[in-house]
Amino acid sequence: MKRTEITIAGDSPGTSHQLTRFDIGPDDPTLPKIFLQAGLHAGEQPGMMILHHLLAMLEAGEQSGRLRARFVIFPMSNPIGMGQVGLHHHQGRYHLRSGLNFNRGWFDLFEMLAENGGLTNLAAALLSGSSDSSESSGSSDNAAHNTAIIRQAVRAALDACQPVTALDHQRLHVAREACDSDVVLDLHCDDASLSHIFIVPQLMPGAQDLSDWVGAAATLTAEDSGGGSFDEVWPGLWIKLARHFPDHAIAPPPLAATLEYRGYCDVDDEMNRQDAQNLMGFFMGRGYVDAAPAVAPPSPSPSPAPLPLSATEIVVADRPGLLAYNVRLGDIVSVGDVIADLITLDGPTAFVERHPLCAGTDGLILSLRCLKYVGPGDTVAKVVGSKPLANRTGYLLEM
Ligand SMILES: [Zn+2]
Repeated sequence: MKRTEITIAGDSPGTSHQLTRFDIGPDDPTLPKIFLQAGLHAGEQPGMMILHHLLAMLEAGEQSGRLRARFVIFPMSNPIGMGQVGLHHHQGRYHLRSGLNFNRGWFDLFEMLAENGGLTNLAAALLSGSSDSSESSGSSDNAAHNTAIIRQAVRAALDACQPVTALDHQRLHVAREACDSDVVLDLHCDDASLSHIFIVPQLMPGAQDLSDWVGAAATLTAEDSGGGSFDEVWPGLWIKLARHFPDHAIAPPPLAATLEYRGYCDVDDEMNRQDAQNLMGFFMGRGYVDAAPAVAPPSPSPSPAPLPLSATEIVVADRPGLLAYNVRLGDIVSVGDVIADLITLDGPTAFVERHPLCAGTDGLILSLRCLKYVGPGDTVAKVVGSKPLANRTGYLLEM
């Protein structure tokens, strides 16, 4: 296991950030590459605890020669966000200097390749063949050839970026490692929540094993959730290339997903150690890690089938108040059921009126919030429904 400290100059004079990277596994570029990061939203720390445990498990696997893939791990991928503490309160979701959400506005690799006639050059270099998964072996060879060319072009495009801010540098460091990975897992958490996954629909049901191992209460799919989130970057490129080059052999998209490990408060040594163990189970199932001798490979419980993210209702407060929840995580609700009463805090009905906030869809209570004082537009709950909702188009994420 190799640890590398990357120093990023801070935007303020006299400051810098340390980005820590671990490389584990055989130094063989022909092996699959697995990328993991936690803490991109720096306030979401269950993933850091999970990767703390995973590092030890992978190191043990490396020492006993059981790794069949290369792992690149950033257990705290956003040191800039970790430093954003003011008045004893950590603000890890938005970059204070620019206002940018740390998991929005990531690269559009297809657009980057398209700049300066890049797609024409690519077309000349790519070999023909079907992008279909039922491709012949000759077409498969062509796809492997094309993958190498595309990855080279992506790396060149990233190398041509001219980072200015510390955030630019941080993004480039992790993007350079994610861009040629076969598996990209971005560990996050919600407010108060059950585990769930965000993934592009093209990767399902192929990644159902990931949902099962994560123990996802929901797997929510959107090809473009409208925010340019990290996990969509990597498969997004290959999906767009396959559409743009229908007669060329374009490999299927890499497996990338946002893994939401419950809520902010679910940083728990034993629970997160089990989460890491489950990720090892996923890696073993995929053949990236051999099981230890004489240990029966575990198997996960099945998770629910994926559902479109556009069917998940984000219930928001329409006024300020104090939330009195009427539901718990995992409850099943119907349209019109009261999710919470909002206790009015001002005006003639202050401290007397209870204003009900109701479910707009039938579904599962996936997320609530820890802190109960809310204002207009604040998320109160996420309800996982199965039918796309008319008001859920365009931007599908929280801000
Ligand atoms: Zn997050």
